[in-house]
Amino acid sequence: MLSSHNIEINPKHWVEHGREELIGIIKHELCHYHLHLEGKGYKHRDHDFRKLLAEVGAPRFCTPIQKLRTPNTIHLYKCGTCSQKYERKRRMDTKKYVCGKCGGKIQKVG
Ligand SMILES: [Zn+2]
Ligand SMILES: [Zn+2]
Repeated sequence: MLSSHNIEINPKHWVEHGREELIGIIKHELCHYHLHLEGKGYKHRDHDFRKLLAEVGAPRFCTPIQKLRTPNTIHLYKCGTCSQKYERKRRMDTKKYVCGKCGGKIQKVG
């Protein structure tokens, strides 16, 4: 899960998991981070990684964080008059916007 040197801790963990578990998750992430910086094996299957996890007493998996990440939802809109479709990454206010083609009213589809 480590694509850059950023450590992502989802604040939801504070609510949904206990403090102990969060500390474990942070330790786990730091193991990735540390080995990545050192140029050693930082992936779950790597020997260096497993060894370091055992040394610091961190849990073996970090999947809960990935699961909790909010998916990139696409909002679909349609013009009620000419049926022109619009895709937006963010929710848009259908009262404020009108169709760019015909000026008709925009409706939310999905
Ligand atoms: Zn991990
Ligand atoms: Zn239209």
